[in-house]
This record gives sequence, C-alpha cells and structure tokens, in this order.
Amino acid sequence: MLAELRGLNEACGVFGVWNHPRASQITYYALHSLQHRGQEGAGIVATDGETLRIRKGQGLVAEVFTAEYIDKLAGSAAIGHVRYSTGGINGFENVQPLLFRSQNGDFAIAHNGSVTNAGILRGMLEEEGSIFQTDSDAEILAHLAKRGGSSPLPRRLMDALARLTGAYAFVMLKEDALYVALDPLGIKPLSLGRLGGGFVVSSETCAFDLIGAEFVRDVEPGEFIIIDEQGVHSRRFARSGQDALCTMEYVYFSRPDSNLKGLNVHTARKKLGKALAAEFPLAADVVTGVPDSSLSAAIGYAEATGIPYELGLIKSRYVGRTFIEPSQSLREQGVKLKLSAVRKVVEGKRVVMVDDSLVRGTTGRRITALLKEAGALEVHILIASPTIKYPCCYGMDTLSTDELAAAKQSVEELRIMLGADSLGFLSVESTREVFPCGLCLACYTGEYPAREVEEHV
Ligand code: 5GP
Ligand code: SF4
Ligand code: MG
Repeated sequence: MLAELRGLNEACGVFGVWNHPRASQITYYALHSLQHRGQEGAGIVATDGETLRIRKGQGLVAEVFTAEYIDKLAGSAAIGHVRYSTGGINGFENVQPLLFRSQNGDFAIAHNGSVTNAGILRGMLEEEGSIFQTDSDAEILAHLAKRGGSSPLPRRLMDALARLTGAYAFVMLKEDALYVALDPLGIKPLSLGRLGGGFVVSSETCAFDLIGAEFVRDVEPGEFIIIDEQGVHSRRFARSGQDALCTMEYVYFSRPDSNLKGLNVHTARKKLGKALAAEFPLAADVVTGVPDSSLSAAIGYAEATGIPYELGLIKSRYVGRTFIEPSQSLREQGVKLKLSAVRKVVEGKRVVMVDDSLVRGTTGRRITALLKEAGALEVHILIASPTIKYPCCYGMDTLSTDELAAAKQSVEELRIMLGADSLGFLSVESTREVFPCGLCLACYTGEYPAREVEEHV
C-alpha cells in the first residue's frame, strides 16, 4: 500500500525553537502537527546551552516519544524532524536529526528536501577521506562545513550551502545558536515565528497555531538565518533571482490550515476546485472528494457549480502501518482498506469525484470501481491540478517518467484506464492564476526553474 501511494514525495517536516523554557515539549507538539509530512521516523535534539541531547526512532511521533524522554531533553532550544523516506536505506541510521560530536562542540542537523548533486559531493568527500554513516544529505552538509577551515561555523555553513543544488530546508542546532537555511529557489516551505521571548521555525505554519506562536515571515530563498542570544540575523548564501515554491505543497503535501506565501492551503485548494468548475462545468447530482487532501477542492467545485457537495467516500483513520494487507483474492471479494463509498449518497447518482492529483492513477482506478460498485450511475473524475508529465528533479521524485500515468497516455487513454465516464485535469494556466507567488510547475510543464545559482554571496 505504502509503495503504491508513494508518488512525488520527500515532504519531511522540520521544526526549531530558540529560547523557550520547555523547548523539547514545544518541538514534540509541533512535530505532531507536521506528522502528515512523514510517518517513518521522528527525532528531537535539545540543548541546555552546554550539551546536545537526542532522542529519535522509527515510527510516529507518539510512538517514538514518551513524557519521560521529553523531560530528559532538557534545555531552552531544540530542533525536530519527521521523516518520509524516499527509498534507499530506510533504517534507523537515516532518522533525523543527525547529531555530530566534535572537539569544537556538538552540532545537530535536520532537513527536508533533496540535494541534487549529493552523489558528486559525497564521492568527492569520500575521496578526501570522509566516511558516511547515513544516506542523508544533512551529513554531506556537516562534512562540507567541517572542512571549511578556521572560519566561524556560520561562514563555513554558508559556503557549504552554496555548493548544494536542489531543494532543501535545514534547521541546525549548536549549544549557543539555531541556524536555518532555505534553498536558493525557495522550493521548500519554511516559516519563521515568534513564541514568547523566543523564535520558532517550521516547515508549515500549522505548527505555529498549535503551539501558540505568532507568524513573522517566510524564510527567503537562499537565506541563512542565525538565531542566538543577540536575536535574529539574516544572511544570504545564494541568490537565484527566482521564487519557485513547489506547487505540490499547495496541491497535496501541506495541511489545509497552513499558509504558504501568505495564502492558506485550504483556500488555495478551493480556488483550484473553482477553477476546475470554470473549465469543466459538468451536469451531475453530487460532488465528492477523496479524503483528506482533495476535500477542499471538491468543496470549491461544488460551490462554484451549485451541485451539492456530499461525503461520498469515507476514510478509515485507524488503518495503521502494521495492518496486514488483504490478499489479492480477499480484495477481489471486496475487502477494502482505507476508503469506502457511502452507498446512500452515490447510488443512482451522477457523481463528480474531485481528486487533488493523479500520479500513477491507482487511486482514481480504485475509487471509480468503488463508486460504481456502490451504484453510482456515472463517475466523472476531475483532477484539481494539471497532468504530471515530467519527473521532479528536486528530489520529490521516486518515480520515473514511465511510472507517471499521464506522461505517455492521452487524457482519453487515462479515462479508459480509470474506468471513468469522463476525466478532466485543471490547465496549467488556471493553476498559475490561482497563486500569488512564483511557483515551480516543472512536473507539469517540463520547465525547470534555473538550477544554477546566479550569484554566490
Ligand atoms: P495515484 O494514486 O494516482 O498514484 O496518486 C495520486 C493520489 O495519491 C491522490 O489521491 C493523492 O492525494 C495521493 N498521494 C499520496 N501520496 C502522494 C504524493 O506523494 N504525491 C501526490 N501528488 N499525491 C499523492
Ligand atoms: Fe514540486 Fe516542482 Fe518537483 Fe513538481 S517538479 S513536485 S512542482 S518541486
Ligand atoms: Mg488523495
């Protein structure tokens, strides 16, 4: 199941807090609100100003931490991470944050994203004598920074960051400072907030709401922030002249209560649904979404067309990762996981089923079958984002072009594959119109934002 769901991913979550008496508790709560970004591992590193302490493990935040562990992570600053693996080694060693002990003090790193020149840098570092313990890009940054001579650590980190290409959001902790860095194109989301007399940084603003922090601003592309006793200092390690937040953050990854670049994710999805209505004003009896990520778009479509929005599909919340999958034969007998159709809602109806994205087409095919089995007369699938035709070069991609259903098939071929009565995708133009900010749309258009950094500073 997990493998089938894996599409464009690498939406890990990072969080950091500076100057709060209960830094590890705050981080623990924040990680809960980022749990949707990764369920395979979680970790916290905290500091009391003298040493760094770590707790991390595989599984959900609630599985990795107990109150006792949190109490042991004493101190007023902490960073945390939830992990969504992109394949490769999926073991304990890759759970973040990574903690490095050295004679110059301890240092911890957590990151979200993917460094596209990681292989080259790793090879070069190994030739020069480095030995790696993990697959993580965070370890590459640590090695690069360590080799940066005798300059102060922030300078060495900035020089090291300028050598990385790709999409990344880093939070880093020392006994006396919290460092934050975002890739030069701003592909990853990262926001800064204030909490009491201290500061917080998070992949998504939904964490701020949970812990009662106030949003200050989004971290800028290519920005390096130092947070220490003297306050917040902003530097630039690179300028790309572009702002290319991953569109998939709005479409699928982020939580509806988060705001990205000042635009609420639920609101953005509703707008995508409304734009779908303008492009595909269908005649139907009910509109339904696929819990949870497409509900906002389905509501938008219903509002714009006047067709009633209904709960046509229900998701079982309690199917855990350890759930034993029904065998193929049981599945054929109708043992279904996770999603069930609400027969009373769809029976005898022309149903518009709005989904947020189509990657392999697995979900669409299953749901069309579910709805038809439950008696739907017609099933019209509308996707609230454009066709994904190109692989993502920023590490969100575990799929090759061959696996992307829309890369090689026409919309009509896809419709037949899904078994739907009609199929429509939101156009790239309409998608662009919904968003106020610079976006990466490369997996839809094949136009990758400039990968080269124009200027190192
Ligand atoms: P498909 O089933 O077509 O391969 O993937 C699209 C469906 O899976 C959508 O319903 C979407 O909500 C869900 N999904 C799960 N993981 C991902 C992901 O990493 N990226 C995207 N775009 N959709 C995903
Ligand atoms: Fe996001 Fe761009 Fe990658 Fe698509 S190509 S998943 S929009 S970063
Ligand atoms: Mg979905």
